[in-house]
Amino acid sequence: MSLLIKDESPEKLIGEDGKRLDGRDLNELRSIKMEVGVIPNADGSAYIEWGGNKIYAAVYGPREVHPRHDARPDRGILRTFYRMTTFSVSERKRPAPGRREKEISMVIKNAIEPVLFLELYPDSVVEVFIEVISADGGTRCACTAVAILALADAGIPMKGLITAVAAGKVDGKIIIDCSGDEDKSGEADLPCAISWYNNQIALLQFDGIMDLKEFDKSIDQILEALEKIRKLQEEALKKRYIDVRDHLKNYNPKVVTTNNIEEKIDSNNQKNQNGGDQT
Ligand code: UDP
Repeated sequence: MSLLIKDESPEKLIGEDGKRLDGRDLNELRSIKMEVGVIPNADGSAYIEWGGNKIYAAVYGPREVHPRHDARPDRGILRTFYRMTTFSVSERKRPAPGRREKEISMVIKNAIEPVLFLELYPDSVVEVFIEVISADGGTRCACTAVAILALADAGIPMKGLITAVAAGKVDGKIIIDCSGDEDKSGEADLPCAISWYNNQIALLQFDGIMDLKEFDKSIDQILEALEKIRKLQEEALKKRYIDVRDHLKNYNPKVVTTNNIEEKIDSNNQKNQNGGDQT
């Protein structure tokens, strides 16, 4: 007797009530939570829970490039590594990175690279390691969103954030933010990322069949959803900034919070000198 439970695809993805299998409306996002600064050993990091997706991103660098012949004298290079853990999907995934992981690593890199000021880091590399702990559709979008947060946490200068989401078509209807089931059994999947500093498309892939009207409708829904996700990214970054600022305040009471910095420094020096005289 086999103990394996096969991945069964549901026949209908939209119910009689017009809702999707997980109870969402057609244009409703899954719940999204983001946290920045979650891995102390990394230079920058972030975590995202997006529906059933659970993903960590950790940034190392800018640091020396290995092998050295990959280094560029005029600018830094970006490396991205998208990986799914063996236990991230219902059927055990082989641990070695396959073609799909290499492709997704590349599309994330291509989406993010243009917004980074890599010319500031000649002969250096910035590496982003993205680990999908649990996968449930739309991981390339969630990974792009979390990778840019980790890079911001690492202090890598950038022109702006990147946000991504996928639209899809199931049971003949356009939906936003496909779940794993919708991705596998749907008629089309359209992941898209926007670079906010110039409002340009940073990633656009398409798999399946839809007509031009449906394509236009998908893009409208994508743009609406991207605005909501960007707000969540900004909130996560602001929270990290406030946490670091508060931590520094407690850690070092000499943090200067005045506009007149020179005056403050003089008065601190004065206090130190007086303190030194008394001992
Ligand atoms: N998936 C899977 N096994 C794999 C790769 C993917 O079960 O080896 C699932 C996983 O839930 C993933 C979904 O298929 O999120 C859709 O994968 P796709 O390649 O379309 O990328 P994604 O939508 O995650 O960006």
